[in-house]
Amino acid sequence: MLRRTKIVATLGPATDDPKIIDELIAAGVDVVRLNMSHGSHEEHEQRAEWVRNRARACGRQVGVLADMQGPKIRIARFREGPITLAVGDRFTLDTALGAHDGDQTRVGVTYPTLHAEVSRGDTLLLDDGSVVLWVDEVDGTQVHCKVTVGGALSNNKGVNKQGGGLAAGALTDKDREDIAFAARIQADYIAVSFVRTADDVREARQLLRDAGGSGGIVAKIERAEALECIGEIIENSDVIMVARGDLGVEIGDAELPAVQKRLIREARARNCVVITATQMMQSMIHNPQPTRAEVFDVANAVIDGTDAVMLSGETAAGDFPVAVVAAMDRICKEAEKQTETRTSDHRLHSVFGLVDEAIAMATMYTANHLGVAAIAALTESGSTPKWMSRISSGIPIYALTPHVATRRKVTLFRGVYPVSFDLNGVDDTQQANIEIIEEMQRRGAVRDDDLVVITKGDLTGVSGGTNVLKIVRVGDHLLPS
Ligand code: PGA
Ligand code: MN
Repeated sequence: MLRRTKIVATLGPATDDPKIIDELIAAGVDVVRLNMSHGSHEEHEQRAEWVRNRARACGRQVGVLADMQGPKIRIARFREGPITLAVGDRFTLDTALGAHDGDQTRVGVTYPTLHAEVSRGDTLLLDDGSVVLWVDEVDGTQVHCKVTVGGALSNNKGVNKQGGGLAAGALTDKDREDIAFAARIQADYIAVSFVRTADDVREARQLLRDAGGSGGIVAKIERAEALECIGEIIENSDVIMVARGDLGVEIGDAELPAVQKRLIREARARNCVVITATQMMQSMIHNPQPTRAEVFDVANAVIDGTDAVMLSGETAAGDFPVAVVAAMDRICKEAEKQTETRTSDHRLHSVFGLVDEAIAMATMYTANHLGVAAIAALTESGSTPKWMSRISSGIPIYALTPHVATRRKVTLFRGVYPVSFDLNGVDDTQQANIEIIEEMQRRGAVRDDDLVVITKGDLTGVSGGTNVLKIVRVGDHLLPS
């Protein structure tokens, strides 16, 4: 059985070995994530190269996603190692304090205007909420707080303001350099952290294009304000990520499940792809088995309709990077047997704007109702299979394309499988169908007597040109038409 939901795995020290990369690919990783918050360009380039080489060696496609660090606010460092704060303690964040001068009463911050953007009554969450501060008074560069949740605090932990509202732009100088790097290594996607509005997405896309990159843009939804203009963000993004780590800190953990479901629904409804991320299998950083709660979390994201589930520290720095992918693989496959993942009334009552979009919708309606074995979508840019995959279905969608960039891009789309295929100027319709079916037979995607839906354009090599939907029975395709 083919898994429809895609697995994104973050690479890191725990996967820095071509043998582990081989095992990750064999276990079913579809996309690797290079986390620009850690590591050097050399390290990331080496990882991307390993993945592409090893994937090529076993006839697979694996996408590469370069994830920008963004304006993550962090405390600076402590002079004498970690401190422990108790409830009721007074503690000061000081934007003017030296980067190594923290102590039991105060610490520096990497965000120079923090003092100007918080005021009495605000709540600051440190280290994803393990320490919580209530802002009592702002005095010059000093933000004086009272500890309301105590705990240990070590160097460089993250700071979030509850409810959002910090003004930092989404793209830092480091992000700009990292985007140029992503263009150079031809990353298939770049992820933009802490997106506030659609302008951040447009700006990132422009920077990537200016640097010569053709990758898709992933908007990480992890700020409260992004939820207020989520429709426009989705319209301007190729992919959104439900970035539950920072998002949960900003909006509160209890809000997360409903927001995840809404984001997945809205993304799919607007022909956008969606990744569900963070702490999906967190306990497997140190344990060989997931908890029951983690099993349910992954399965529920699949049932919600996510395109992909993501692993962060579990693969990048975990003790069981391969086992965690194998666990995700089996959980996704079982969850996909639920009938609600195979039926859909997606856009049943909408008017389609484009011919290729109408073909994609008609294909899925037909496939879901006719007992089709597979869909063969000839595609230039990947947009036809993307539209198709917005409709829940149990039927595999093969994206046949001569372009490697398109094959890598579709690795993220639920239920879509890349196939290298070139009609090489064949314009006789019957001959084209024969070659398509033969390719599908070679892959074991179809057998004799199976029904296949083929979509293509009268003119190959033209993006947006899909205008043909053909239903073929394997075997009959050899008969003269
Ligand atoms: P991060 O993003 O891992 O880069 O912080 C994901 C999240 O916040 O959930
Ligand atoms: Mn984040």
